[in-house]
Amino acid sequence: MPLHLMFSFDDGLKTDVALAKLLEKYGLKATFFVTAGKVDRGFVWLSREDVYWLSDVHEIGSHTLSHPNLVKLPEGKLIRELRDSKLLLEQVIDKRISGLAYPYGIFNEHVKKYVMRAGYKYARSTNAYWIGVNGFIGDPYSLRVTLPLYPLKLIGSIQDIVNKLRPIFFRAYLSMHSSDIKSFLTSMIRRGYLDTFAFVKNIISVLIEQSRRSKTHYVISLWGHSWEIMLDKDARLKFEDLLAFISSLSRSVEVLTIREVIERASKVGFE
Ligand SMILES: [Zn+2]
Repeated sequence: MPLHLMFSFDDGLKTDVALAKLLEKYGLKATFFVTAGKVDRGFVWLSREDVYWLSDVHEIGSHTLSHPNLVKLPEGKLIRELRDSKLLLEQVIDKRISGLAYPYGIFNEHVKKYVMRAGYKYARSTNAYWIGVNGFIGDPYSLRVTLPLYPLKLIGSIQDIVNKLRPIFFRAYLSMHSSDIKSFLTSMIRRGYLDTFAFVKNIISVLIEQSRRSKTHYVISLWGHSWEIMLDKDARLKFEDLLAFISSLSRSVEVLTIREVIERASKVGFE
């Protein structure tokens, strides 16, 4: 399988349900990081039933109890945010929780130590422009993402865009020169591919092609918020178009939860 792709969505808002149904329409799945203390706290948040329903097809991870900046918490509070959110969600879904998404993507070595102690197998940040090569996923407690999945408009000069996206293309075009990267991006911009969803389709095509040529196995991770996609008609249509594209490539792209990718990377199953 040349390409493994992970979707993850943060915060545990009600729009996760509609987004999950859209994924399932195309036979796809995701990891939903739920703010455990917000479950059942009104109509904008997921109910316990919603979280249980999601856990049937998708992975549920913790996004802490109250979404604090973990780096700023005293020890006692830090332990409670990590441990109690995990326990609460495990009660709701009647399965083990393996993963955490750091609120605001913020963590440090101190926080990481407590995440491990609380029994998590991995934690995801929001640091972007990552692509996994040949099963190497890096430190499982500071997982990065490839791109945020929101209706981002890539504005600014071409040079700005090239600078921002350079790390992706250094990995994707492993053996190529930066002049190729520039001309590729320039042609994409000329063709009007200025939004994230079209850009992701391009990354997928490039990586499939690259992996055919070099027998390299790639992993990408797309992260977002369901409300940003589901409450914006244009974004929703583009997202669905991306899902249709991915499911049409089912022989080349396998969509996995983060837990499944970590398990395969470490070649062990988690309880
Ligand atoms: Zn969040």
